[in-house]
Amino acid sequence: MIPLLLLGILIVVILARAILFQPYQVAVDQTPKEVLNQEKTIGNFRVLLRHQTVSHPDKDKMDMSVFKAFQQSLVSLYPEVHKTCTCEYLGDTGILYHWKGKTQDEPIVLMSHYDVVPAEETAWDVPPFEATVLDGVVWGRGTLDTKCTLLGVMESAEHLIKEGFVPKHDIYFSFSGDEEVSGESAPAIVSHLKAKGVKPQMVLDEGGVVIEDGIFPGVNKQTAVIGVGEKGYIDLEVQFESQGGHASAPPRHGITGAMGRLMSDLENKTMKPVFMEPVLEMFNRLGRHSSFGYKIIFANMWLFKPLLTTLFKKQGGQMNALIRTTTAVTVLEGSKAYNVLPPKGKVGINARVLNTDTMDSTVKHISGFVKVPHKIQVLNGREASPISPVQSHAFETLEKTILDIWPEAVVSPYLMIAGTDSRHFHAICENVLRFAPMEITKEELNLIHSNNERIRVSSVLKCVECYVKLIRRLG
Ligand SMILES: [Zn+2]
Repeated sequence: MIPLLLLGILIVVILARAILFQPYQVAVDQTPKEVLNQEKTIGNFRVLLRHQTVSHPDKDKMDMSVFKAFQQSLVSLYPEVHKTCTCEYLGDTGILYHWKGKTQDEPIVLMSHYDVVPAEETAWDVPPFEATVLDGVVWGRGTLDTKCTLLGVMESAEHLIKEGFVPKHDIYFSFSGDEEVSGESAPAIVSHLKAKGVKPQMVLDEGGVVIEDGIFPGVNKQTAVIGVGEKGYIDLEVQFESQGGHASAPPRHGITGAMGRLMSDLENKTMKPVFMEPVLEMFNRLGRHSSFGYKIIFANMWLFKPLLTTLFKKQGGQMNALIRTTTAVTVLEGSKAYNVLPPKGKVGINARVLNTDTMDSTVKHISGFVKVPHKIQVLNGREASPISPVQSHAFETLEKTILDIWPEAVVSPYLMIAGTDSRHFHAICENVLRFAPMEITKEELNLIHSNNERIRVSSVLKCVECYVKLIRRLG
């Protein structure tokens, strides 16, 4: 009798919590629409897109004259910015503008990068570096990633300076030309600012966007996500050695068997799940807009976390990546001949480190699965970033600016699985936010780093408007 009664109470509590799980209301004072010169903005965008600023891990293979030409274009396209702001070139490709405000305390840093990944021209429907405009859409490598935000920053500054606007706080524009290859320009800019004692109140870089058709289970609404942290990254090799020998008389256990067991263990024995604060807050905010079935789960995380953990592990993919360090085997090497036992074997792994884990704990986790002599070599890696607070003036101002332009959007923090240059800025700032004010569809989002990358003209204009409004709000 009592267990039945308890079950009844539990069901009532679960349902009541789901019913009460209603969207948050954020009070936003709507400001007038900004009047921009649309033709000029798109014309300038096309100039920036035509520079083939493709970065390369080996900087000797980068055509620096292209990067210089891009910098020169900024000088000629934005005369007011160049009259009012100082401009320094730092590192290999870094550009740092300094727009003096009424006070140099608590400055703001607006970031972007102007390098792009290569484009395989034959796979595109239009040439990737001609900035073709077709039916209200601008096509080209770098449209989404991320010359649009660089344009947004520069256009907004030019617009506001022309109007005679002086920001309350100093504003820096920090642009690198080697973000895609984890280059040295952003770190060079950070060291420069650090040496000057600059302590920004807010840093804004690429990251989340405004997704028109929803990205969260059960939520069919426009969603704007702001990255408040990013996972760490490791490329590593597990190296095995054996006597080699002829494959006609193999040993009972060879190194390929050990390699196979390692790969199988990596898939089955995943690292510990942790629902971090930004992820829980994302469930809390977006879950309030989901259908009732999902609300039952998201309103009762205290009960359903274990269920979600099991589900995410089973499914893999994005959701699983939000709650744990992931390991993916990406490179394999064994024997060069079918009839020869491999004298050496290699399992190459790419790990994305959750912010509650470290590179060290991840390497130990991997190493723990190998019961034979082996060596682990970390080829490349970085720790996860700190997490920026959601309860902050910076986050709230950005949220209100987003809602000013996209009043229907649900705004939420999230944890980034990919990396951005902004991670370097945690050294001098507590509020490092990752959001590119671009309104795109899920389909368009998948064009980043892919063929036929493109953005709608209307979205480009909203991006510029968002920066204008953000600077006004902060200033
Ligand atoms: Zn990017």
